[in-house]
Amino acid sequence: MQAIVTQRIIYVAFDHLSFDHGALREADPARDVVALVESERMTNGRAWHPQRLFFMLSAARHFAAEARERGFSTHYVIAPTTREGLARIRSQVGDVPIVCAEPSSFRQSADLAEFGVDFVENDFFLTSRNDFALWAGRQKTYVMENFYRAQRVRLNILVENGQPAGGRWNFDADNRLPPPRNYTWPMRRGFARDDIDREVCEQLGIELADTWATTQAQAREALASFVAEHLAGFGPYEDAVTAEEWALHHSMLSPYLNVGLLHAREVVTAALNAYRDGLAPLQSVEAFVRQVIGWREYINGMYWFLGDDYRNLNELNATTALLPVFSDSTKTAMNCVSSTVAGVEARAWVHHIPRLMILSNLALLTGTNPQEFLNWMREQFIDASDWVMVPNVIGMATHADGGLLMTKPYAGGGAYLNRMTEYCRSCPFDPKKRVGDDACPMTTLYWGFLDRHRERFASNHRMFQQLAGLKKMENIEQVRDRAAEVLAGLRAGTL
Ligand code: SF4
Repeated sequence: MQAIVTQRIIYVAFDHLSFDHGALREADPARDVVALVESERMTNGRAWHPQRLFFMLSAARHFAAEARERGFSTHYVIAPTTREGLARIRSQVGDVPIVCAEPSSFRQSADLAEFGVDFVENDFFLTSRNDFALWAGRQKTYVMENFYRAQRVRLNILVENGQPAGGRWNFDADNRLPPPRNYTWPMRRGFARDDIDREVCEQLGIELADTWATTQAQAREALASFVAEHLAGFGPYEDAVTAEEWALHHSMLSPYLNVGLLHAREVVTAALNAYRDGLAPLQSVEAFVRQVIGWREYINGMYWFLGDDYRNLNELNATTALLPVFSDSTKTAMNCVSSTVAGVEARAWVHHIPRLMILSNLALLTGTNPQEFLNWMREQFIDASDWVMVPNVIGMATHADGGLLMTKPYAGGGAYLNRMTEYCRSCPFDPKKRVGDDACPMTTLYWGFLDRHRERFASNHRMFQQLAGLKKMENIEQVRDRAAEVLAGLRAGTL
């Protein structure tokens, strides 16, 4: 019998859990060894949300089990660092090359390159880093919508004879509805738990929850369930927030996409098939496709294009320390904020509007240090890869890049939240008031923010309307005083 000689160690990072993409794409159990490293620096290095940690560890352990079932000699080691884990595996296997897909963060790329790991191209996205850089290098401004339209044409998605299907590139005007009344939301399905899930929960000392899939088969169930039960309603209510239903019609597929359990191509194909078969209208399918081939690819592309120093920007000189409410939902009476943080505490996830218009908005308006807020977002969200959160927080949420990504800050007062959410109805504050003890803190802080930065935004034509409102304001002194009180109360965790 011929002896099997190991030719390569295939290192599978915890966010590259795929046999069809990355370094395993052309792997052969007859010659390759699969290596996964549960690095203690990764698991203990930050105050991760327990659900996030559970998801990452359980998905990786399930993946290792599947690799064994597929005939790969598989090493899953727990080590202080990834490099130490790989060194240990190499000492057992032999001095053979270690190969992995291009890592998903600057830090891991530098770390593994220094260790001598060879990279194969990262194909977990539809747009390579080089192709994105070519697009970005040709732009005067990095408007996502321009990238998205180019993606539609390049990938031939919802395009007919070079024109968008339905005659429009997006259907936002038909979507963005407030929460519906007397509406029955489909039940969210939980996922069956097994011994691996139980073992991870026990190790972490947390209760078993069924919110998140931990295998590719379960992730595919989640995709099928989204397409069958939620896609049709996704578009109209994608921006709505209701206390009745935490997930609304959102897909909740981002964690699976971001760790490799699903690929963007299969997700988009499933949505397009539903449209072709008449199961979902164009306004919903287009809205969903935009999230996947537009936003997701754009954010990843910009992460690599902008470079590692981008994360340190703080153009608005925001120095407020992270507010207590971000780590304890009971530290404020603001219903929108406490309900949203409670949602994050429960399941490490809220959809894009609470993330942007409640949590990020609060950070922006209070002048919270963008790096502290970035760390918090990274730790708390189930889908918070570095490439996701750096551009989203520095560029979109806190405008800390001075407008490189977004032409204007995403700042809003209580009026927007009163229209798009149901929180104001049972809040002790009044969204229409900007001064007084019962004034909505979001509204007061919004005007305080504009006042603080009025000179910076004076030449921004997209801010013209807001600044015109500020100029006409007669009680600006009172607003400033109330904004200072609100900030002090939030800092103390008493407002
Ligand atoms: Fe939030 Fe203001 Fe509405 Fe209260 S009134 S829920 S603080 S937006």
